[in-house]
Amino acid sequence: MTNPLLETWDTEFGLPPFDLIEDAHFAPAIEAAMAEGLAEVEALATNAEAPTFENTVEGLMKTGATLDRVLGVFYNLAGADSTDMREEIMREFSPKLAAHSAAIYGNQALFARIEQVWLARDALDLTPEQARVLMLTHRGFVRAGAALTGDEAARMKEIKGRLATLGTQFGQNLLADERDWQRALSEDELEGLPAFVVSAVRAAGKERGAEGPVLTLSRSVIVPFLQFCPNRSLREEAWRAWVARGENGGKTDNRGVAAEILQLRAERAKLLGYDDFASYKLETEMAKTPEAVRGLLMDVWEPAKARALADAALLEERMVADGVNGPLQAWDWRYYSEARRREEFALNEAELKPYFQLENMIQASFACANRLFGLEFRPLDVALYHPDARAWEVTRKGQHVAVFIGDYFARASKRSGAWCSAMRSQRKFPDVQAPIVVNICNFAKGDPALLSYDDARTLFHEFGHALHQMLSDVTYDMISGTSVARDFVELPSQLYEHWLEVPEVLQEFAVHAETGEAMPQEMLDKVLAAATYDMGFQTVEYVASALVDLAFHEGEPPADPMAEQAKVLAGLGMPEAIVMRHATPHFAHVFTGDGYSSGYYSYMWSEVMDADAFEAFEEAGGAFDPAMAGKLEQFILSAGGSEEADVLYIKFRGRMPGVEALLKGRGLAA
Ligand SMILES: [Zn+2]
Repeated sequence: MTNPLLETWDTEFGLPPFDLIEDAHFAPAIEAAMAEGLAEVEALATNAEAPTFENTVEGLMKTGATLDRVLGVFYNLAGADSTDMREEIMREFSPKLAAHSAAIYGNQALFARIEQVWLARDALDLTPEQARVLMLTHRGFVRAGAALTGDEAARMKEIKGRLATLGTQFGQNLLADERDWQRALSEDELEGLPAFVVSAVRAAGKERGAEGPVLTLSRSVIVPFLQFCPNRSLREEAWRAWVARGENGGKTDNRGVAAEILQLRAERAKLLGYDDFASYKLETEMAKTPEAVRGLLMDVWEPAKARALADAALLEERMVADGVNGPLQAWDWRYYSEARRREEFALNEAELKPYFQLENMIQASFACANRLFGLEFRPLDVALYHPDARAWEVTRKGQHVAVFIGDYFARASKRSGAWCSAMRSQRKFPDVQAPIVVNICNFAKGDPALLSYDDARTLFHEFGHALHQMLSDVTYDMISGTSVARDFVELPSQLYEHWLEVPEVLQEFAVHAETGEAMPQEMLDKVLAAATYDMGFQTVEYVASALVDLAFHEGEPPADPMAEQAKVLAGLGMPEAIVMRHATPHFAHVFTGDGYSSGYYSYMWSEVMDADAFEAFEEAGGAFDPAMAGKLEQFILSAGGSEEADVLYIKFRGRMPGVEALLKGRGLAA
C-alpha cells in the first residue's frame, strides 16, 4: 500500500495532498517516521568521525524530518477536524511520542558528541545563528537531564515520573470537587436572574438528572450566577463552595499534593545545578530572573490595588443603597460590579454585531499587513481538509512568502478556542522552505457571518501569530517563527490586536452589514471603555496569583503552601473583597503540569510589552509609521528565536519595556 504521507508531495506550494490522505494512513506513517528518526539519531551518535557542528548539531536538525511533516498534518487535523479515529490515534501515540523524545534526549553517546562541540565552540568560527542553535541544543539536553549519570540519573527519572502522576492527580481532584458539588435551587431562588442564567441552571439540573434547576461549580455557570443573584446569603454559599475546590479534606484535597510537587520541583532543579526551581524555569524566558518578574508585577500591583480600593468604595455605596450594611465581601463584588457596568458601560451586542462582518475583519487584518509590511493575499483554489477552510498565497513584490490557511467557523469536530499553528515552518537549512500557516477560530456561521468585538480581536490576535511565522527569516527551523520564549511569544499577537482599534481601520472595515455605514463614534467609545471595565479587580486577582506562584518556586520550597500563600497575601495588603484568581488548591496552571509553573506572570509580561510596543508606533507618528514597521519586522517578526528576547526587544524599542503604557491601557494610570 502506498502511503501519501510518506511520499514526496508534488503539489502546489508543497501543500499536503489532503484529498489523498485518509485516517488509516496516519498510524503506519507515524510508526515508520519514528523508526526512521531513531535510526538517523543512532547513526549520528555512532558516527566514527570526530564531532563537528555540521555532523552533530546540523546533523541532529536533519533527523526526524518525516515525523515533523506527518505530525504537522496530523496535529492540525486532530485539533481542527477530529474524528473518533483521530482521537484514538492521539491516545495511542501520545505516550509513544513522549518515549520517542525521551529516547533521543537520553542518548548518552549523542549527548557526549554535543558536549564536545559545545566545549570547543570558541574555536569553531560559527555564525551568530549557529552559535545560538548550538547553545539551545546543548541547553535542551542538559535541562532534560542528559548530563546526569548513575544515582542522579535514576533519581531524576523517579522525580519526573512522580511529578507526572501528581500533576494528573491534582487535575482529577479538582474535577471531582467541581463535579461532586451541586445546590438545588427553588423557583423562588431564580427570581432576579436573567433568562440566560436561568436556562443555564435548568440545563445543569437536567444534565445531572435533578428534579429542578441546580447550581454547579462550572465557571460558565457560577460566574454569571455571582454576577446576577440578588440573594446575598445564596451568593455567599455559592462563592464559598467555589473557592473551596481542592480544599475540602478527604481524598480529593490538593493541599498535600501541591506541597509534594513543590518539594520535587526544587529537588529536580538542584539536581540540574540550579539554585531553585524559579531560576531553572526562568533561565529560558525573557524575564530571566525572579527579581525581574517581581519588579514588573509590583510596578503594576500598587496602581491596580489603588484602583480596586476606589472601585470597592463605589460598590459598597451601591450595596448600602440596596439596604445591606457593609463591608463589601468577595461574594458581593461581581454582583454590584455587574450592576454598575450595566448602568455606565452597557453595550447592546445586537446593535454592535452588524458592524463586525467576518469577511471585512479578514480583509482588515490583511490590509494592515499590507500597509505595514507590503504583504499581498491572493485566494487559492486548492484541496484542503474541510470545506470551511480557505487558503491564500501570501506574496511581497511578486515573491512567494507563505501559504495562509484560515479556518474560522465553529463545528463539533473542532477543539474550542482559537490558535495558530504552522503545518510547515520557515527555514533555509537543509533546504529553503516557505511556511504554511494556519489560523483556527470558532466563530458562529451566518449570512453574512457576524462577529462580536471579542471575536474580531481574536481574529487579529491569531493573525499576529501568523505574521510571526510568515515573516520569519532564519536559517534553522528550531528558531523559526514562534519558536521563542513563552513570555515573548504573545508579543506579536497581542500587539497586532491594537490595529483593530485604530480609528481609520474601524472606519473603513467596521461598516454596518446592511447600511454600509461606519460605526458611530459614541458606540466606538463605549466599545473601547467596556474593554477596560473593572480592571482594578481583574489585575489584583491576577497579580496576587502570579506573586504566590513565584514565591512557591523561589528558595527553599514551603512545607506548608497554604501558610506561604497567606504570608504573601498579607505582605501585599490584599484588598478584603478580592481573592486570588486561582488559590493554591485549584491553581491548575501551576500544578497540573510545568507549563505555567513559576510562569503565571507571563500573561502580564506580554501585555506590558504589547502596550509598550504599540506606544512606540504612536510616539513615532502613528500606527502605520513605516520606520517602526520596518523595525518590528527586522527585530521581532523575522528574527524568531535567533537572539535572546530581551536583546531583540531592545533593538526594536531602544530599551526594555516599561509598565506605563499598560497602566494607561488598563485605565490604571494615576
Ligand atoms: Zn496567542
